[in-house]
Order: sequence, then C-alpha cells, then structure tokens
Amino acid sequence: MDLLTIGAFARVSRLSAKALRRYDELGLLRPAHTDPFTGYRYYDRAQTERARLVAWLRRIGMPLARIREVCDLAETDASAAARQVRAYWAGVEAETAARRDLADFLVDQLSGKDTDPMSQLTTPLTIRYAARSDRGLVRDSNQDVAYAGSRLLAVADGFGAAGDRAGSGAVDALKALETDALGGTAAPPRAGDLLNALEDAVQRANAAVHGLAGSGSGTTLTAMLWTGSRLALVHIGDTRAYLLRDGMFFRITHDHTVVQSMIDEGSLDAEEAASHPQRAMLLRALDGREGIARPDLRLHEAKPGDRYLLCSDGLFAAVPHADIRRTVESAGDPDDAVTGLIALAHGAGAPDNVACVVADVVEEAVPA
Ligand code: MN
Repeated sequence: MDLLTIGAFARVSRLSAKALRRYDELGLLRPAHTDPFTGYRYYDRAQTERARLVAWLRRIGMPLARIREVCDLAETDASAAARQVRAYWAGVEAETAARRDLADFLVDQLSGKDTDPMSQLTTPLTIRYAARSDRGLVRDSNQDVAYAGSRLLAVADGFGAAGDRAGSGAVDALKALETDALGGTAAPPRAGDLLNALEDAVQRANAAVHGLAGSGSGTTLTAMLWTGSRLALVHIGDTRAYLLRDGMFFRITHDHTVVQSMIDEGSLDAEEAASHPQRAMLLRALDGREGIARPDLRLHEAKPGDRYLLCSDGLFAAVPHADIRRTVESAGDPDDAVTGLIALAHGAGAPDNVACVVADVVEEAVPA
C-alpha cells in the first residue's frame, strides 16, 4: 500500500483537504488509514481514481448522496455507473428545458409584450373542443374523466377504490380557475398569477384526494388552461398531451412512470416499454400521500391551427401511435376526432377506461 498524507492526496486528486474530510464523514471516500492517536488521515494512492471521479461528478453538479452510489457502482459495474450518470444528466436537461420555457414566458411578460399595441391588432384566438370518457369493454366502472370548457381542458385517470372521485375531484379543483378572477375578460393574467393559481389548484386537488376514504386511491391529471393566447399546462402521472402543429404530431408531456425513467436512463427502449409488465406503475400522481404534489407546470404560446389531444393510457397503450396520429390529423373537427379515437380504442378491445379531449385553436370570427 502506498500511503499518502491528506495534503499529498489532495494534490493528486485535485480535491481540497477540507472536501476530503467532508467526504470521509459522508462515507463517500474513506481514508485507507486514520491514525488513532493524531486523527491524521492517510490515503492509498490506488484511491486516486475514485477521488477523481468524485471531483468530476461534483463539477456536473451531482448531489453527494448520488455520487456515492455512482462511485460504488463504478467499482463493480462500470456500465451501470455510466447509465446512472446519463440518467442524472437527462434529468438536469429536462429540468433546464422546463425552466427555459418559464424564463421565456417571464421575459415576455416583463418586457410588456402583452401591452404592445401591435399585439392588440392580431386576430383574437379561441378554442373549439370536445371531450369524452368511456368505460371501455372490460372494466366494470369508469374512473377516467374528460372535461373541456372554454378555458379548461382536462383528463384524469383515477386509480384505487375511490379512483373515480379522485379523478373528478382533481378536475373540479381546476374548474374553479375557469370562473374566478383569473378567468375574467380583462387583461391576460400575469405569468406569476397564472402559475400560482395553477399550483394552488393542484394542491387543492391533492388535498381533496387525501380526504377520500380508502388509501391507495389517487389520480393522474393532465390539463391545459387557456388564457386567450397561451396555454398553461399542468401534468402529473401518465395521462398525456399531444400537439399537432404544422403537420407534426408530437407529445408535449413526459410520463411520470417507472418505465419512462428507464427509457430516460437508457436501460429500456420505447418498444420494450410498451410491453413492460410494470408500464402503468406511476412515479408521481395526485395521491394525497406526500402532502405536496409535484406536477410539471409549463406555459406555451398557442398558434392558430394547433390541435391538442389530451388522453389517458386507455387510448395510447391500446392503440398504435400511427393510428392515433392519423385520426387526429384527418378528423374534420374536435368532435369527430374524439369519436374516432374512442372507436379506435374499442377496435383494440378497450381493455381500460378511455378519456380523450381534442381542442383546436382558431382565429375568432370577427362580427360583421
Ligand atoms: Mn387507465
């Protein structure tokens, strides 16, 4: 064993002596020997590799507890450690993307884009919508909820004994946003007000779920609040939102499921995920359990011609993506689209409840 003093080891590992003492306390990097009388720490030169890995992982901002896991893994299974780093970084990028959207929105708000006289000249936008929820062909009851109004689009997929009330309770909590001051006809709501209102509504929804009899019940929730030019998206669980824009059809929500996180970390591909036995296992939902729900919140600019689809897994898990896409693209109006999508689910045996909302963004007809 080639023992180095803490000072010498600090130099070769490029970690400070202070950091080394802290990593020892945390069990992240234990000295090879600690003198029982003086308390001096000595490190084996062979520990340099682990120390350097710690230093590099600190540079990418990884929390210490997670660094410990990666370092332990690196000693037995380097490729598993590599996947952990990739998964961590995918999470950082997703978080950054969400914050970038929010930052863009705040910049627009603060630079007075809403009061720009030019923007007053553009044709006002409105939405046309349809919503339907269906029991399917196998389940005894329907715990899916689909709702569409002039300001709110929402789907929820309840689970557990009180799943139906969890789903409808969550959507009801958001409906309050349609009628309160935020939904007034005056100036568009400010970004902060809108986000706070959504966040509060989700916490109310979560509290409502908490009050339900029978633990283990809860719901997913994917909803969009229309503000006249923008859509504020709130999402938790594995219900989804898709957007058809300029001939492209893409998903704009991220599933909070175990299999999605496996896809993110590169240990599963999308095709394997579709048949995975635990594909419905949720990482996040409104289950009242954690006290505080952690939904994704996003804001984005709507464009005339946009068509949005909100749906539960009873649609996308049963019906091939290409069929969903074709139906959304070809339907003449939201009602046709919803009818076509429910029919597709039935054609696929409708093993689960199905909820669909389709909304078109259109230029408001100016009265003659
Ligand atoms: Mn379902």
